[in-house]
Amino acid sequence: MYEAGANPGEEANIAKMLTAETVLAAGEVCLQTHGGFCFAEEYDVERKYREARLYQVAPISTNMILSFIAEHVLGMPRSY
Ligand SMILES: Cc1cc2nc3c(=O)[nH]c(=O)nc-3n(C[C@H](O)[C@H](O)[C@H](O)COP(=O)(O)OP(=O)(O)OC[C@H]3O[C@@H](n4cnc5c(N)ncnc54)[C@H](O)[C@@H]3O)c2cc1C
Repeated sequence: MYEAGANPGEEANIAKMLTAETVLAAGEVCLQTHGGFCFAEEYDVERKYREARLYQVAPISTNMILSFIAEHVLGMPRSY
């Protein structure tokens, strides 16, 4: 869409939010499936889980995405 000249802010933000939620859910399933070994550094699951959690914060936080959707898609007043 961007390369076609559109300004897909809505789509990009929604895609990023869904991806962040999906990767975190996958991390939760992985942790629960493999149990206690996930907390041992040498198995790398705890590192991957931390990285999965990261996408709630960076490169743009889910709060900021929700603010964008509220203001620019739903037409609500700016929240900050
Ligand atoms: C591993 C890692 C690598 C990074 N790499 C890069 C990089 O290569 N280049 C780069 O430019 N940056 C990089 N960053 C920075 C990243 O972009 C910021 O961490 C991210 O934008 C969040 O900003 P912040 O850390 O200042 O958190 P804050 O903005 O202080 O957020 C803290 C909390 O407050 C909430 N919040 C903030 N503002 C609002 C608001 N207006 N309304 C509601 N809630 C709000 C957030 O959602 C979050 O829960 C990296 C960060 C990490 C952790």
